[in-house]
Order: sequence, then structure tokens, then C-alpha cells
Amino acid sequence: MNQQQHAQLRSQFPALAQEVNGHPLIYLDNAATTQKPQAVLDVIAHYYRTDNANVHRAAHALSGRATRAFEDARETVARFINAPDNREVIWTRGTTEAINLVAQSWGLSELRAGDEIVLSTLEHHANIVPWQLIAQRTGAIIRVIPLDKRGDLDMDAYRALLGPRTRLVSVAHVSNALGTVNPVKEIVAAAKAVGALTLIDGAQAVAHLEVDVQAIGCDFYAFSGHKLYGPTGIGVLWGRTELLERMPPWQAGGEMIDRVSFAGTTFNALPFKFEAGTPHIAGAIGLASAIDFITVLDRAELVRHEETLTDYLVAGLRQVPGLRLIGEPEQRAGAVSFLLDEIHPQDAATLLDMQGIALRVGHHCAMPLMENLGIGGTMRASLACYNNQDDVDALLAALHKLSDFF
Ligand code: PMP
Repeated sequence: MNQQQHAQLRSQFPALAQEVNGHPLIYLDNAATTQKPQAVLDVIAHYYRTDNANVHRAAHALSGRATRAFEDARETVARFINAPDNREVIWTRGTTEAINLVAQSWGLSELRAGDEIVLSTLEHHANIVPWQLIAQRTGAIIRVIPLDKRGDLDMDAYRALLGPRTRLVSVAHVSNALGTVNPVKEIVAAAKAVGALTLIDGAQAVAHLEVDVQAIGCDFYAFSGHKLYGPTGIGVLWGRTELLERMPPWQAGGEMIDRVSFAGTTFNALPFKFEAGTPHIAGAIGLASAIDFITVLDRAELVRHEETLTDYLVAGLRQVPGLRLIGEPEQRAGAVSFLLDEIHPQDAATLLDMQGIALRVGHHCAMPLMENLGIGGTMRASLACYNNQDDVDALLAALHKLSDFF
């Protein structure tokens, strides 16, 4: 992608064209949430202005239009992750709800005392706490894959953890804190060999990598729309039909039923069995529009652009005196964590914000990882497709200034 093409891509994100504290906004907090292209904003406004109605219910024209757009969005998601069947795409509020769905439905019905759930040290709290709640109720045991010094999973230790009691392996595709890209195909294959199911938390992956759930071979894949240039409040759980069919409903109410009487209730078919109540229709349509936005671009070229920029950022950070990179994984996507020797991360972030530079500090919802690294938190810069070399240069210049000053 040449500079002019990239400038054209960037210009489609209106939020980026603003000043913050008298400086042009440099938005480097994309792992928390991404900005939205005009196309997504337009689709959502159009939906509310012209097609707003509840789905799957009424015979009138607006409901027909809303239902078609909503179900087309499901098809768009299925194609995006190469799901074999639209009915395997369940709308959720985000990654968190998708993981909770599997934990509450599959976990509560399938896990017995002594069964093992394997997680990794670098998981987001959203892929830890739901399993702790289920472990408390079922007597299942959580085992944790350690990290090596670079911030990659220790794959030998992982294989050694697997055994006849392993029922589920649930790991992130990409770490939100260190940017580590986990070898998910290998992780899944090893889990399968002992008969365990696999869930991949794709929250940080979908915006940066081309995801193919069939090629990965996993049983469940979860992600959020808002980290993929789409709206907040919408996300996806993909699961294999035969598993979803066997799993009991989780939340209950309208939409998810077939027939209700006080004598008993039968449930709707997939995917509706897991979609109780009025869904986030505008969110689903907005997410499909975000997917359309990035899939019309050359995905491989976008991945290359981000890789080049990430390498440039990491190389630049290495030149800042007193700066320590936290995690140097073999393969990285999106996020880079670091600390400055003399400055508290919170103070540094405040000084950067005064120059219009947005990044994140703290534990990044990965407290066990921070504890493992022996630190309270990090400063994290995270990139998206619209970031360019000027953004990185602005951050590096500001960090050099901070480092000189302190
Ligand atoms: N997993 C990972 C790796 C994440 O980065 C996040 C969001 N920071 C989540 C899960 C939770 O996503 P959400 O808050 O959109 O449900």
C-alpha cells in the first residue's frame, strides 16, 4: 500500500481527524477499541432512520428489511471466519459474553469434579474468571500454561499439562498485553489428541490476522465487533453445530423458544436457541459493514502494513534510553508493552495525553500475567490499520523527550 492509498484509508475514520489538547490526535489504544470508518457510522444511521423494527417477528415491510439485514450480517461473519454454516454464528455482546456462554452452558452441563480446564498465563480476565466461577460450581480444576522469558507460551509445558482429565483448552489467539501471537493450530491439535475441546479468544486477532476457524480446527472462537472497526455491544461466538446442538440454552426469554406452556418449553433451533431477547440489530449490521470495509481491502497487504509498522515501533522503542520492552514474543500482532525506568506509567500516559497521544497503561485486564512478570502494569501502544509512521514517530519523539527530562 503506498502512502497515498494509506492516507485515503485513514481519511475514512472521522474520529482521527481531531485535535486533543491542541495537538492532532495520535490514537494508539486500538487494543482497547478501534475507531469506526464512516461506512459503519452511515450504515447504523441508515438502519435507525429507515429500517428500524424488531427482527423475526412481524409481517410488515420494515421488520422484513431489518431481519434480512440482520441475517445477512450473520452470513458476512460466517464468510469472514470461514465458518461452514451461518447457524454456527451466535450473536453476543462481545468476547466476554461469548466465553461466558460456553462456560455457563457447556461448562456447567459437562464438567465434573476433577475435570481439567487448561488456560494460559497471558489470558485476559474474560478468559479466566468465567472458568473460575464454573470450577467453583463443578469441582473442575484450572491448569495454567506457563510462559517462557520472551512472553511466548511454553509449548513443552503445555503438552505436559494435557492428559485424560483435560476437557477444555481455552487460550487467546493474540495477547492483548504483550501482542504474542499464539500457535493456535498446534495448541488445538495437541488438545484434540487427548480428546479435549478448544476455545480460542480471538478478541485481539480478528483485526490483525486472517482468521479461518476450519483451518485452526478449534471448537469455539470468540470475538468482539468493537476491536474490528465495528460498534460496541456486539460480538460473536462461533461453535461447531454438533456441540451447540448438544449444549443447553443459557439465557432464556423470547426468540430462543419454540413453544412455551406452563407445562414446559421447547427451544428454538440454532442459532436462535442462544439468542434470548431482542438482539443488538444495529450492532450486527454495523459489524457486517466493518467486515465489508476491511475485506474489500487487500487483507494480506494490511497485515504487511501493520507488521512493518510494528517492527518500526519496536525498533524505535529500543532506542529510547531507559525504556524496557515487556515481552519480546516470536510473533507479535497489534500491541507492544513497555516501561520507562524513571517514570510511573500513569504519569507518562498523562504527559503523552497532553500531547494528543492516546495509549493505555495498567494491567490490561491481565493481572495474573503482570504478577508473573513481577510488575504492576505496563504502558501499551497498540496499532490498527489506519496508523502510520507519523503516529509512531510522534510517540517515539514524545518518549525521547520524557526520557531526557526525567
Ligand atoms: N479477550 C481479550 C484478549 C481482550 O483483549 C479483550 C478486550 N480487551 C477481551 C477478551 C474482552 O473483550 P470485550 O470486553 O469486548 O468483551
